Amino acid sequence: MSAIIGVDIGGTKLLAVRIDSAGSVAQEYRTDKPDDGSMMATAIANAVPELCGGDPIGALGVGVAGLVDHKTGTFVWGPHVDGVNVSLRDELESVVGSRVTVDNDANVTAFAEHRIGAGRGSSAMLMLTLGTGIGGAMVFGGEIYRGRGFAGEFGHARLARGDHQCECGQRGCWETEAAGPALERLARELIESDPHGSLAGALETRPVAGPAISAAAVAGDPQAIALIAQVGEAFGHGLASVITMFDPDRIVIGGGLGSIGELLLDPIRRSTGAARYAGAHNPLPTIVGAELGEHAGAIGAGLLAVEERAADE
Ligand SMILES: [Zn+2]
Repeated sequence: MSAIIGVDIGGTKLLAVRIDSAGSVAQEYRTDKPDDGSMMATAIANAVPELCGGDPIGALGVGVAGLVDHKTGTFVWGPHVDGVNVSLRDELESVVGSRVTVDNDANVTAFAEHRIGAGRGSSAMLMLTLGTGIGGAMVFGGEIYRGRGFAGEFGHARLARGDHQCECGQRGCWETEAAGPALERLARELIESDPHGSLAGALETRPVAGPAISAAAVAGDPQAIALIAQVGEAFGHGLASVITMFDPDRIVIGGGLGSIGELLLDPIRRSTGAARYAGAHNPLPTIVGAELGEHAGAIGAGLLAVEERAADE
């Protein structure tokens, strides 16, 4: 039996999985992400023998955070891995001796949700991941929509009302107002103005960061719940514009902050509903949480490699 392998290189880790043809994870492999683009092919190739266990490679796909030219398999630039214009596909193919597919991590994550997760059956799906930023991808007519290669960088669309400086250098990017950084900023302001409040107590021994604030909200802290709702409303305000542009039938929300569920999804639906164009005649698309969790990117990379290989044969 040949092995289907998917790899996801994100902000901190390299996660590789072996999946069956239905996308179920049979085995996983984790290591720190490579720091430099020149080490990516080797880091991925190191995962292969353990996952293959002697079987030949049937399909191998890789998703990487950043700008990826899918046609040429080039890692152009990314915020987490040094190096530009790395010929990742060619380097990896020469090491493993098998065809390789390389794509952006948000694209392969959305692809997995479309094929086997929360986007099943959708004809126009948008996936948005909320974490330290806002990632995005589009699956239209069952195919990933890439534009000239780099479509879907929704986090840096200026869809918010605020004017905070983004790490990309611009001001007012959606992700500075409606994702992890906004949540942390709001929490710090609240703790400063209300040092004896419930959130200050809940975070006394933890850093004021997204995961701790989310955990406090899930545990029922009213101030944390209100902050999550505030961020969800800011996100929904921008999402209404995205819906106006693309008219999707389904929005899948994933990512670390996105995985909190209804505490976030409810405020998103409310503010998107209030802000959308021609609301009385234009029903809101379904807005749902992602289903596949942290393995989604690696699973999607493997599934995409299988379909591309089948299309070539
Ligand atoms: Zn930006």
